Amino acid sequence: MRLVLMGAPGAGKGTQGEVLARRLGVPRLSTGDMIREAVSSGSDLGRRIAGYYEAGDLVPDDVVLGLFGEAFSDPASQAGFVLDGFPRTPAQAEGLDGLLQSVGLELDIVVTIDAPDDELVRRLSGRRVCSEKECGAVTHLNMLPPGSGRCPACGRDSLSQRSDDGEEIVRNRLLVYREQTRPVWDYFLRAGARTASIDGIGSPEEVGRRLADALGVAA
Ligand code: AMP
Repeated sequence: MRLVLMGAPGAGKGTQGEVLARRLGVPRLSTGDMIREAVSSGSDLGRRIAGYYEAGDLVPDDVVLGLFGEAFSDPASQAGFVLDGFPRTPAQAEGLDGLLQSVGLELDIVVTIDAPDDELVRRLSGRRVCSEKECGAVTHLNMLPPGSGRCPACGRDSLSQRSDDGEEIVRNRLLVYREQTRPVWDYFLRAGARTASIDGIGSPEEVGRRLADALGVAA
């Protein structure tokens, strides 16, 4: 299955995308992960794009298309994929179309996960991530004993806040989503893509069931 997962920051694309990709046996391609990796590597490219990332702004389209194109050229992606956080502008959506056309493939469906802004801010400002590379678990302050920095998945004292999850930056990311990414949904509608919207409120399991229903796959 070739699927685009859309939704504002905090809507649950990462959580749902990971579970779904595992279930379908296809790669989850997250441009956010690619960008974090580039930034933390300290490479020339990483230094060039760090400012955009830290401010919650979009990294320029040519850079993102370059990173995505590299991941997409991996033969594992030709059998199917879950796209998480890409495309985020109409220019990126056109770039994706071009890449797909060049290998004779089409998207199966574009799904957007909806959630209101106050819920997104609550989720993102309380989000904590495990900085251990081989763990990388994502959790929320609500799930942790007060003051604990211990990762519930690997048990190490390695939880921290993502640098772009501070409240002010989160507000900017939501604005950027509305102004620059929402038009991608209209782009797909105009292009006649199969689309579905699901309610992102509820437990990850509940949202996962709605997603599976929308896709017609087993939950
Ligand atoms: P995410 O982890 O998907 O929330 O992305 C985190 C940040 O990475 C975003 O706020 C942007 O700065 C950058 N980013 C991720 N995906 C894209 C994209 N497709 N286009 C531009 N910037 C992106």
